[in-house]
Amino acid sequence: MTSRPLIFTDIDGTLLDHFDYSFNHAIDVIEELNERHIPIIANTSKTFAEMEKLQQTIGINSPFISENGAVIYIPIGYFDEQPKDTVTQGYYWVKEFCPPRQHWLDLLAQQAVEFEDEYVGFSSFSVEELCEVTDLAPDKARLALVRHYSEPLLWKGDDVRKQEFIAHMTSLGAHMLQGGRFLHIGGESDKGKAMNWLAQVYANHYQAPVTTVALGDSGNDSAMLEAADIAIQIKSPTHDFPVLRKKQTIKSQECDSKGWAECITATVLTPSLVTSSTSASLTGA
Ligand SMILES: [Mg+2]
Repeated sequence: MTSRPLIFTDIDGTLLDHFDYSFNHAIDVIEELNERHIPIIANTSKTFAEMEKLQQTIGINSPFISENGAVIYIPIGYFDEQPKDTVTQGYYWVKEFCPPRQHWLDLLAQQAVEFEDEYVGFSSFSVEELCEVTDLAPDKARLALVRHYSEPLLWKGDDVRKQEFIAHMTSLGAHMLQGGRFLHIGGESDKGKAMNWLAQVYANHYQAPVTTVALGDSGNDSAMLEAADIAIQIKSPTHDFPVLRKKQTIKSQECDSKGWAECITATVLTPSLVTSSTSASLTGA
């Protein structure tokens, strides 16, 4: 039986360019995937509000994984039957993997007083301040602030204190994850667990095996990349490729959406090129 590909992709610095949030270089490939009915599933730290808008902009209608694997939103009716363990919220079937944001805000307020001058959390940011830190436009920054499961923190202290903070919060049951710009505090969920859960739902729906193809650029993508059948690391203009436990990954030559298009073309659209003339290099991690 033929295996059906599923594309799980990080958004910032992977499908969207790090500096200007554009995906222009990937448009042709996205259209090709849509024509072939190959799902593009966002797996991102972004919020529901951000992703719902972005799905429309990109032109995809698949389920998406939000807040670093904390939750999956599946458009109602996307599968024939509502997947088990989901609840209905608005236009979506929702699968949750961890406690809500308020739990983590309370933990920070009560248990991390000694670090409080060394970070700024999203809950203290105004729209204007977030625009300054991220270069997001105000309308997009407003959507980014509405989070449900996790709290991104901008670390202002030094690296030693950051490691102490991470160890302290981890000992209290938090899961700490370094993204491209922010240190995220949330529950024991990750992009890999959420991907695996959703891949199983697809396999049940297709009544066929699936091949998970994951793309990401940062440390918060590692769990997803390590769990994927095909792991693709997208080159970043700002940092090195994170080191993964998985032995082999494909590393893009180009950055951001250009690298995304390059690697999807090489692996999914023209698989025979992977071992011959692709510009993406298959290397040990
Ligand atoms: Mg990223």
